[in-house]
Amino acid sequence: MIVIDNAAIATLDGDRRELSSGHVVVDGKRIVAVGTGPAPAYDGARVIDGRGCLVTPGFVNTHQHLYQWVTRGLAADATLFGWLTKLYPVWAGIDEESVHVAAQGALAQLARTGCTTAADHHYVFPRRGGDLLEAEISAAAKVGLRFHPARGSMDLGEKDGGLPPDSVVEDRDEILLATEAAIDRWHDPSPDSMLRVVVAPCSPFSVTAELMREAAELARRKEVRLHTHLAETVDEVSWCDERFGCTPSQYAAELGWTGADVWFAHGIHFDDAEIKNLGQSSTGIAHCPSSNARLGAGIARVADLRAAGCPVGLGVDGAASNEAGSLLEELRHALLFARARPQAGFAGGGGSRGGGAEGGAGSGGHGAGSGGDGVGEGGVGGGGVGGGGDPQALDVRSALELATLDGARVLGRQDEIGSLEVGKLADLAVWRLDTLAHAGITDPIAALVLGSPPPLELLLVNGRPVVEHDTVVTIDEQTLARQVAQTHHDLLTKTT
Ligand SMILES: [Zn+2]
Repeated sequence: MIVIDNAAIATLDGDRRELSSGHVVVDGKRIVAVGTGPAPAYDGARVIDGRGCLVTPGFVNTHQHLYQWVTRGLAADATLFGWLTKLYPVWAGIDEESVHVAAQGALAQLARTGCTTAADHHYVFPRRGGDLLEAEISAAAKVGLRFHPARGSMDLGEKDGGLPPDSVVEDRDEILLATEAAIDRWHDPSPDSMLRVVVAPCSPFSVTAELMREAAELARRKEVRLHTHLAETVDEVSWCDERFGCTPSQYAAELGWTGADVWFAHGIHFDDAEIKNLGQSSTGIAHCPSSNARLGAGIARVADLRAAGCPVGLGVDGAASNEAGSLLEELRHALLFARARPQAGFAGGGGSRGGGAEGGAGSGGHGAGSGGDGVGEGGVGGGGVGGGGDPQALDVRSALELATLDGARVLGRQDEIGSLEVGKLADLAVWRLDTLAHAGITDPIAALVLGSPPPLELLLVNGRPVVEHDTVVTIDEQTLARQVAQTHHDLLTKTT
């Protein structure tokens, strides 16, 4: 039994209760008490002094590519398509050992930044790479996070008009068989599950329509969730328009990809009608602000998506396009970018498909040429004229909600995790807010979201400590850091 006493608590319960000084009691894998003041005495309990700390639900990461932890820092100034073209050949060299090391590194960093449940989207399966899904599942078990591995795939190579080289695509029937085998082997649908498998073809420009359709059928037959990248860049919008004569979301909808069991990574370039349709079907979005900014992709209309009824969670995305891999940073970036985003009606901003730098000069000139292609819709990047933002586009409490309860909704786990309530699973973070970095900020949630990353005093997953005193206790961080550096070096040596 673990008792956290005298801490500020953001419960995220139905009333969104916030306690200035209270307690959380954990027995085994569940929360058994949450209340104001000190906890009653429990025989033999470990008591943690929470003075100066804020307790939040553990964060939920809804989009990531763990294997990219060992391919960080490459194509540092490229657009998405240019970045992918540079990285596909490097990724073709991954194997069980490199993925196991990379996954531990990425998951440990997620844990250090408040994450207790991580979804991963793995879509690169080189022919002699070994069992890569097992490599990351065993890494998640070692680090100790609740894990939703998404069995990704690509079957549309260059010779068929896709973006990835033919060496990293798989045969469609093999993909479907391997995905079903992964569900049968790993998926645990029980209410306190630590492991749930997801069906996840990679993206419209790397996957055939047939695979998208059959993957949706497989997921529904096996009662698991569906995930893919969608509407990330204007290049993708153009690609879908030229190839299919429709938008990415229309394309996805025609193939059965809408509903409460579906979530899309990014979801940046949707117009008003698309957002309305997605909201009505309760289709989820993994918002990845740091990655979107790193690749100059634009920024999702988070407030509009939420207002329409879409569950919106946060994702760090792969570390090759977000070297920090910090889920806590995504709260801050989600808030800042939502407010900075030009609003409709202001000079130079908005437009039906959302503003941002994507309209003109922002995406030209790097790698596999994606330059301004006419899909553009104004935006500050094109003309250099500042549009107005909106300081109320996303408040600090909503940012915390994106990372916790809404992320849990995206993964279909809002009844088990995402808030601090009696009976829920004991996934929680204890943040230290009494150091120089945050001293004097009286609102602890504002301190957490707006301030610099605070020390993480304790992280519990399923009631088990994974981080204590800002250090991951389930693995040796120093040894792992050396393994990550060596693996990166070996991979680049092998493939360049
Ligand atoms: Zn991604």
